[in-house]
Amino acid sequence: MKYLIFGGAGFLGSHLVESLEGDITVVDDLSTVKYLELPPNVKLIKDRVETFKTNEKFDFVIHLAARPSPEDYMQHPVETALSNSLGTYNALEIARKSDAIFLYSSSSEIYGHAEIIPTPEDYWGKVNPIGVRSCYDESKRFSESLIMSYFREYGLDVRIQRPFNVYGPRLREDGSYGRVVSRFIYQALKGEDITIFGDGNQTRAFLYVSDWIEATKKMLFTQGLKGEVFNVGSDKEVKIIDLAKMIIRLTNSNSKIKFLPPRADDPPRRAADITKAKKILGWEPKVDLEEGLKRTIEWFKVRI
Ligand code: UDP
Repeated sequence: MKYLIFGGAGFLGSHLVESLEGDITVVDDLSTVKYLELPPNVKLIKDRVETFKTNEKFDFVIHLAARPSPEDYMQHPVETALSNSLGTYNALEIARKSDAIFLYSSSSEIYGHAEIIPTPEDYWGKVNPIGVRSCYDESKRFSESLIMSYFREYGLDVRIQRPFNVYGPRLREDGSYGRVVSRFIYQALKGEDITIFGDGNQTRAFLYVSDWIEATKKMLFTQGLKGEVFNVGSDKEVKIIDLAKMIIRLTNSNSKIKFLPPRADDPPRRAADITKAKKILGWEPKVDLEEGLKRTIEWFKVRI
């Protein structure tokens, strides 16, 4: 099997690549990559998803290229919007010429400030089209729309996933790239203040990366999923303040919690309704939050 994976050097991509067997080409501009850990047999091409050109044919084209950290994408809104619009178009064209299976990693962000929690796939979302997060959430929404157009017009075998706050080893903790789990772990291990934006009552539902891999492989290899979209996440909602306390406990840290002003347009609640994935993919998360955090903490302990 031949795979072309955009964003394959990043957090999600590198884990997926490790779990696949076959001929793998990764296209990644390395713009957000800190822990570059790819198996030696993988062909890595430094390019962007919008500009990469090829005449090769592939069995699978997978588009994971994105800047998923809100603080980071808000600093690079144009690049963020382009990789999920022009980039998706370019990736779809490559898939169409190969008649490949096209898998897109969209985002739970497309639901915006969801009014139904846990959120099912058929909820349309509540998104600010001109807000500071729109470079990310609206471009992800446009990608989904374009992908479904390729399905409807050309019959391309497309599959869309919406991951919800996936975490684990290699998730960046530093600067504006840091996501909440890895940043809190870093702060706790270093004895620094744990920085909570707002009052910490906002919620997320976290998914350990091995569960994401399992769902993604089922999405790639199950027959009959053409044009389907799946939430890939957890339905267990956790308050950010409780996440902070859990990480302090699991790391035996002396860190104190520091409350900072809330982030602009921060969704107040988020959790996945995974009824569809359970029924059609036979998938549900196996690693609970405490276990996933322990594994992630162990990984960070020897690297920071
Ligand atoms: N968050 C926080 N402190 C941080 C980083 C994040 O309180 O140092 C909060 C953030 O406000 C959000 C949640 O944690 O409510 C998840 O943030 P993340 O950046 O991981 O991604 P998001 O789910 O917002 O895309």
